[in-house]
Amino acid sequence: MCGIVGYVGRSEAAPILLDGLRRLEYRGYDSAGVAIVNGQTIETRKCAGRIANLAKLMTERPPAGQYGISHTRWATHGKVTDENAHPHFDQSGKIALVHNGVIENYATLREQLVREGGHKFTSDTDTEVLAHLIGSIYEQLDGKDSKARLVNATRAALKQVIGTYGIALVHADIKDFLVGARRGSPLVLGVGKDENFLASDVSAIVAHTRDAVYLNDFEASSRTTC
Ligand code: GLU
Repeated sequence: MCGIVGYVGRSEAAPILLDGLRRLEYRGYDSAGVAIVNGQTIETRKCAGRIANLAKLMTERPPAGQYGISHTRWATHGKVTDENAHPHFDQSGKIALVHNGVIENYATLREQLVREGGHKFTSDTDTEVLAHLIGSIYEQLDGKDSKARLVNATRAALKQVIGTYGIALVHADIKDFLVGARRGSPLVLGVGKDENFLASDVSAIVAHTRDAVYLNDFEASSRTTC
């Protein structure tokens, strides 16, 4: 179990996410990544190894955008590779998700998604299964309010999960919006002025806000700047 940092606000997300990950670095990790929404495109940079490697990638190809999520991974399912580094995506490629913890029933859920929906996976992680499950429920739900739809899809997916999670996710079509939830893995909501944060540890966001809300198990949080 390692680290999560999410940001939504008026500043460029990349330096804030990278700085947050560096503050979590002492906890140890094997890979790191970010997903930042730029218009309706999700810009992803991720790789095995140190945060310095991720920082190099982000310098070579800077991801623009004012909201996004990031992660340091401590591998439990799948080897330490670039493909298994978080963020992971759903089948549509529009939902990006980071996760700390273990989805114990991921194999059953994965089989079900393959059998019923022909889902294709690009990693060996339990996390990618959760991203696909949320995406598949999101597609099936009706309603014009896409924010409520994403929150409801996340809730419904997590009801099917056995295991532990702290998660943060974004959808390419839902502007300035982060969803977070936890069970068994920590997640803190940081409330700033015109900006909000999610983090697995308050040390990642304390430079930006002292107003922290520690989420309890089964609490979900969705945050927007508007
Ligand atoms: N189980 C996930 C994986 O292996 C998350 C591990 C973590 O908590 O960093 O990718």
